[in-house]
Amino acid sequence: MKRSLGDGQLGQLGQLRELAAEHAPVPETLIGPDGSVLSVNRALCDLLRSDAAQLVGTRYADFTHPDDRARHERLFQEAVAGIRDGYRLTKRCLRADGSILQGDYAVNVLRDEGGRVRCLVGQLIDVTPQRAHEQQLREALETITRQRELTQAILDTVDVGLLLIDQHGHYEAYNRRHRDFLHLSYPEGHHGQAGQLGHVYAADGVTALTTEEMPSTRAANGEEFDDLRIWIGADSVERRAISVSSRALFDPSGGFVGSGMSYSDITELMRAIQMRDDFLASVSHELRTPLASVVGYLELLGESLDFGAESRHQIEVLQRNAARLRDLVSDLLESAEQRTGPVVLATMTADVSRIAEEALEAAVPSGWEAGVELKGEIEPGIHGIVDAGRVRQVIDNLVSNGIKYSDPGDRVLLTLSCSDDVALIAVRDTGIGMSEDDLDRLFTPFYRSARARERLTPGVGLGLGICQAIVAAHGGRIEVESRPGEGSLFTATLPLT
Ligand code: ADP
Repeated sequence: MKRSLGDGQLGQLGQLRELAAEHAPVPETLIGPDGSVLSVNRALCDLLRSDAAQLVGTRYADFTHPDDRARHERLFQEAVAGIRDGYRLTKRCLRADGSILQGDYAVNVLRDEGGRVRCLVGQLIDVTPQRAHEQQLREALETITRQRELTQAILDTVDVGLLLIDQHGHYEAYNRRHRDFLHLSYPEGHHGQAGQLGHVYAADGVTALTTEEMPSTRAANGEEFDDLRIWIGADSVERRAISVSSRALFDPSGGFVGSGMSYSDITELMRAIQMRDDFLASVSHELRTPLASVVGYLELLGESLDFGAESRHQIEVLQRNAARLRDLVSDLLESAEQRTGPVVLATMTADVSRIAEEALEAAVPSGWEAGVELKGEIEPGIHGIVDAGRVRQVIDNLVSNGIKYSDPGDRVLLTLSCSDDVALIAVRDTGIGMSEDDLDRLFTPFYRSARARERLTPGVGLGLGICQAIVAAHGGRIEVESRPGEGSLFTATLPLT
C-alpha cells in the first residue's frame, strides 16, 4: 500500500531541510535567477567572515573578485538560460575584511516543473592552502629548472669533456665538449652505453681498445684512474689525444652508483712532447760521435808521459767533464728511444752479485769525494739470465743518486739478496729524502725535486725513468720509500729466470 505524507508532515520536512542546510559543514548559498543572494548558511558566513544579514540581498558578484567577475557572469547567464545545468569554477572571493580566498565554486540550477529557474545552489570550498602549495611547488620547479640550465650552461662552456655514467655503464649526462669527443670517436653514433667499440686507440695511437680496455667500461666497474691517455678519431691526421680521469660515486649508504669522468684534450701537449723527443734524439745523436772522439783522445792524452803535473790535472778535469757530457748525451738518447718503444735487452747468464760488487767498487771514489759513507751487503753467488750491462746501469744510477742526494756524514747502503728466483736490489740512504709530491712524479722524464734543484746537484731527471724501464723490461719493478730530511730507500726486483 502506497503511503503519502500529509501537509503537516511536508512542512516539517521543509523545516528540517532548512535546518540541515543551515548547519551543513559545506559553505552553501542560494542565488536567485537575477543574481541576488537569497540565503547563505553558517559555514559560508564563517568562510567570508560575514553574517547572513550582510550577505542576503547583495549580488553574488559583490563578493567575487573584480577580475573573475566576467568569467563567472558568463557561466551564470548560460546556466540561467538553460544552456547548462550547472557549472564549476575556481575564483577569488572577497571577504568582508577585504582579504581574498581562492574558492572552488560548484553551482547547480533548480527548476520548477515548467522548467523555469527557481534558484541556483552554490557550494564554495576554500582551496587557498592548496593553491599556495601549488604556487610554492611551481616556484620550486622554476628554480630547479633555472639552476639546471645555469649548471648546464657552465658545464657546456668548460673545455673539458664531462661524463656521468651509472653503475650499469649507462650514460646519464654529458656536456657539449664530450658530445664533440663522442662524435669524433663514433661518427656512426653512440648508443649511450659504456664500452661501445669505435675509433678509440691506446696511448700508442694505433692499437684499438677492446671493450674491457675502454675507460668507460673500467669506470662503470668502479675503477678510479688519472691521466689515462687515449687517442680518438678515425682520421690519423685529425686524431686527438685525450687524458681521461675517473672517480667512483657512492650513495649515502656507501653503495656504488656510477662514475664521474673527465676528458681533456692533450693533443698539443703530446705533439710538443713528440717534438721535444725528436729534437733531443737527433741532437744527442749528432753529439755522440764527436764526443766519443773527444773522450777517446783525452784518454790517450792522459796516458801520455809528455805532460807535467799541472797539465795532467787539467787533462783530468777535461776527462771528467767530457765523460759527464757523454753520459748525459747517452741518457738523453736512451730516454727518447724508450718513449718510442720498449727497452731491448741482450740477456745471458750473468753473476748478479759480481755486477753489484763492481758497481759498489766503482762508486767508492765519488762517495769518498762527497764525504758519504758507502757500504754493501751483497749476497754472493746470485746468478740470473739478465742483461748485465743494463743491470749495472740500474745499480750505478741508484747508488750514484744515493750519494748525490746526501750530505757529508750521511750513509748509503747497497744490499743484494735473492728469494724465489727474484733478486732484490736495495739502495738505502740517509740523505735529503723526498716529499709525497716528488714520489708521485719521480719517474717522469726531466722531473727533479725542488730540493735537488735548490742545492744545485748536477742532473737532468732522466736516470730513474731509464732504470724503471730497464727493470720493467726484465719483468721487475722499482719501489721507493722516502721522507724529506730522513733519506730514501729504492728497491728493485729482478726476476732471474
Ligand atoms: P737526476 O739525478 O739526473 O736528476 P734521476 O732520474 O736519477 O735524475 O732522479 C730524478 C729526481 O729524483 C732527482 O732530481 C731527485 O730530485 C730525486 N731523487 C732521486 N734519487 C734520490 C735520492 N736517493 N734521494 C733524494 N732524491 C732523489
